[in-house]
Amino acid sequence: MTYQVPLLIGGNMVQSRTHEWLEVNNPATQEIIARLPCATAEEVEAAVAAASRAFVEWREVPVPERARLMLRYQALLKEYHDDIARLLCKDTGKTFEDARGDLWRGIEVVEQAANIASLSMGETQENVARGVDCYSFTQPLGVCVGITPFNFPAMIPLWMFPLAIACGNTFVLKPSEQDPLASMRLAELFKQAGAPDGLLQVVHGGKEVVDRLLVHPEVCAISFVGSVAAGQHIYQTGTAHLKRVQAFAGAKNHMVVLPDANKQQVINNLVGSSVGAAGQRCMAISVAVLVGEAREWIPELKDAMARVRPGAWDDPDAGYGPLISKAARERVLRLIAGGRAEGAECLLDGSHCAVDGYPHGNWVGPTLFRGVTPDMALYREEIFGPVLLLMEADSLDQAINLVNANPYGNGTSIFTASGAAARKYQHEIRVGQVGINVPIPVPLPFFSFTGWRRSFYGDLHAYGKQAVRFYTETKTITARWFEDEAVAGPNMSIHLK
Ligand code: NAD
Repeated sequence: MTYQVPLLIGGNMVQSRTHEWLEVNNPATQEIIARLPCATAEEVEAAVAAASRAFVEWREVPVPERARLMLRYQALLKEYHDDIARLLCKDTGKTFEDARGDLWRGIEVVEQAANIASLSMGETQENVARGVDCYSFTQPLGVCVGITPFNFPAMIPLWMFPLAIACGNTFVLKPSEQDPLASMRLAELFKQAGAPDGLLQVVHGGKEVVDRLLVHPEVCAISFVGSVAAGQHIYQTGTAHLKRVQAFAGAKNHMVVLPDANKQQVINNLVGSSVGAAGQRCMAISVAVLVGEAREWIPELKDAMARVRPGAWDDPDAGYGPLISKAARERVLRLIAGGRAEGAECLLDGSHCAVDGYPHGNWVGPTLFRGVTPDMALYREEIFGPVLLLMEADSLDQAINLVNANPYGNGTSIFTASGAAARKYQHEIRVGQVGINVPIPVPLPFFSFTGWRRSFYGDLHAYGKQAVRFYTETKTITARWFEDEAVAGPNMSIHLK
């Protein structure tokens, strides 16, 4: 019988009583590998209630004990690294090494969560008035919610619940309905690490389940990662119900290439960052802006891209895997066909890609366009496939204006040998994460993941110090202790003397 994914509520893996089920497919074969329940209203209610109950105890647990839970958890994640990666390969189609990387970038956040005692410290100041001291604490909020996308089913849940829980909160996770297997394994290992019942719940489903969580009166904060449309809806609904929301959304990431850059480095980095993971990374490079003579490198770039081929997760020569679903593949093919119709020149077309032994996989080969202009749908829409668009500019200023005119602001990079050009770019570009000769500048967890503009709705970002602020309230205490009984009479002003 097909595996039925359970819900995790109050420490128990339970089978849903729903009548609505979704299928989870292996995207390389279309084999149905699991059935996924859309949790009922009662089950969502039970998950939030369990999180609320657990919060009463957990908020009192000393900070070092919370940190120790994270230390045990990261050790288990490392022990089962390859097993979880194989699960990821099954429901995402990622290559094995890429799947290991997906989990590794999440483990690094758990390591950071083990530093919670230092990260969550408040501030102190003596003698803010005569005999008066002032100090602040951070305190947890309560029940927090995470809604995650398909493309990093290990890393992105791990951006959220370990830090929220280390801060003293409890959590309800709603993973992507397209590939929930790794998220369930992460939850099992969290239990195995000794997490008390109710700290983490997992519920499944789509919009209906998310909408119940967004308006639930016991939910205090919502972290979301996914598409722009869903992000806008979640930010608007969550904040309209007076909750904290951080919503990380879509992207269109540009790499600006100056002619003084190392040509081979540029070509290698462009190929890996554009078609790696089938282009299904929110920080993938989807547009290269070639400045001046860098245009002459196009034929060599095309040859390098043509040598990459997709394949199954255990094929050591595969550059990347299939797209997540048939619908995603059809969408990408429609955009490729549309790009041709709009007048862009297609140098490589991966629309008819086939992989031996996998006739039903959602394959798209590396695709390269030149002559792309800002008005084309190919440029305006996020493609989220192995498609690289080439644009051209006569100067660095022109390239900067092009990138800044794009509504997204997730990531960008510049390849150059000039420190002055790189300095100008990092200063003038209106994008939250900038790489200098680094194609995918995802910050490590002691910084934060800082998308801007249409790529992010909210103010405090994921992981790092900003996440600790997102998942806590600050309480500020102003204290005076009287040394004698002398009473000077009432102080009628607001001024502390
Ligand atoms: P998606 O928006 O379709 O789904 C993300 C999550 O939101 C899922 O759990 C889904 O069930 C839920 N959801 C979807 N539509 C909803 C709606 N209308 N109302 C409420 N909930 C809804 O995204 P996806 O296809 O899974 O992921 C790909 C997208 O995620 C891309 O746009 C990519 O750029 C983006 N992404 C962004 C970042 C970032 O950090 N900015 C990181 C990873 C992925």
